[in-house]
Amino acid sequence: MNKATLRASPSTAGKREPKMWLKACPRCGGDLYEERDVYGKFIACLQCAYYLTEVEEVLIKYLASRSDAVEAKRNSAKLEVIAGGKR
Ligand SMILES: [Zn+2]
Repeated sequence: MNKATLRASPSTAGKREPKMWLKACPRCGGDLYEERDVYGKFIACLQCAYYLTEVEEVLIKYLASRSDAVEAKRNSAKLEVIAGGKR
């Protein structure tokens, strides 16, 4: 029996800062934030509680990583196109 493998890892996970995307909500243009619960990570809107789909999450992270706040408007416009196309 090797009890060493059961050793708990140090809790450094709580160190991560919450991520936010200002005025990026495809529904209301509000501020999105990244959260974590028992089901995993998700991105939701502070203003209207809209939950981004997986596709939207990937897209917004991609757009945020290659553009700054100046282009936020264009980014949300792209999101609207994608979100609207699913209806
Ligand atoms: Zn919203």
